[in-house]
Amino acid sequence: DDLLLDVQGLKRHFPVRRGGMFRRQVSAVKAVDGLDFQVRRGETLGLVGESGCGKTTTGRLLTRLDEPTDGSILLDGTDIAHVSRGAMRPLRRDVQMVFQDPYSSLNPRHTVGTIVGAPFRLHKTLPADKIKPAVQDLLKLVGLNPEHYNRYPHEFSGGQRQRIGVARAIALRPKLIIADEPVSALDVSIQAQVINLLEDLQNEFGLTYVVIAHDLSVVRHISDRVAVMYLGKIVEIAGRDSLYDSPMHPYTHALLSAVPVPDPDVRTDRERIRLRGEAPSPLKPPSGCRFHTRCWKAQEICSVTEPPLVTLAPDHEVACHFPENAPGERLQARPVQP
Ligand code: SF4
Repeated sequence: DDLLLDVQGLKRHFPVRRGGMFRRQVSAVKAVDGLDFQVRRGETLGLVGESGCGKTTTGRLLTRLDEPTDGSILLDGTDIAHVSRGAMRPLRRDVQMVFQDPYSSLNPRHTVGTIVGAPFRLHKTLPADKIKPAVQDLLKLVGLNPEHYNRYPHEFSGGQRQRIGVARAIALRPKLIIADEPVSALDVSIQAQVINLLEDLQNEFGLTYVVIAHDLSVVRHISDRVAVMYLGKIVEIAGRDSLYDSPMHPYTHALLSAVPVPDPDVRTDRERIRLRGEAPSPLKPPSGCRFHTRCWKAQEICSVTEPPLVTLAPDHEVACHFPENAPGERLQARPVQP
């Protein structure tokens, strides 16, 4: 079975309270509002969208740093969405996170040996005398000098620190790694090195990644499939080439049209589309299709009826009443989440 992660109806609503002593919930920020997606073993799913679309909250839910309001997260058949903290502890081995900021995600008072060895100590997977050689092997694996075991994070560059974060994440050979903007804090010249490292480790150990990023070029490079989020929902999910070459959702189209083409000799027929205004607040998402307030293709039905995510081509799902680049026939429809 090549399905590793099966997410169904995933929601995270943050209650908003008002009033003095008797604060009552008046509404909710629907940061994540009904996600359905799957990740196959050994692949990389890219998760993209503007800031505030819910992609970082999704990452926190998948690693159970945050608890879902509703829905299920089946990791290798086990639903980790609502298990208690205690029950989650052994499962935490299976899902690890690489954070955005290598400057703040490593404790400055701990040596590299302590940081990278922490998972072995926490999960008691190795006897004390085996931890140091295991950490040194990991440092070698991520391209660092094993002799630097006793150094502190401030003695390393940004790229090296992210390598330390990666070494910590892969220590226990997790089934799934969530990388939240893994290279966006790094100098452009260093970004490719860290991306290549993630890819090399994936090939060597068959790792599965969910990579959250706002940089569409990075996502294109690293992903096998890509999910586009808008205001807490997935609006399009497809194989990488299918999504980049033939986007079907107007929002995806607009995001891609804003990506500069690196080679000025390469002409693109993709016209630059400027989105109207800012994304609306997830506190009060628009009715019907949430994108209708900014969509140049919107018609009357768009503000009334929410389009379900449907499969319009092999491995290509989109939630739009008037998709672009769509082959004639609808293959399979999914019910709309209530
Ligand atoms: Fe635009 Fe309507 Fe499609 Fe929404 S459903 S993306 S408003 S065309």
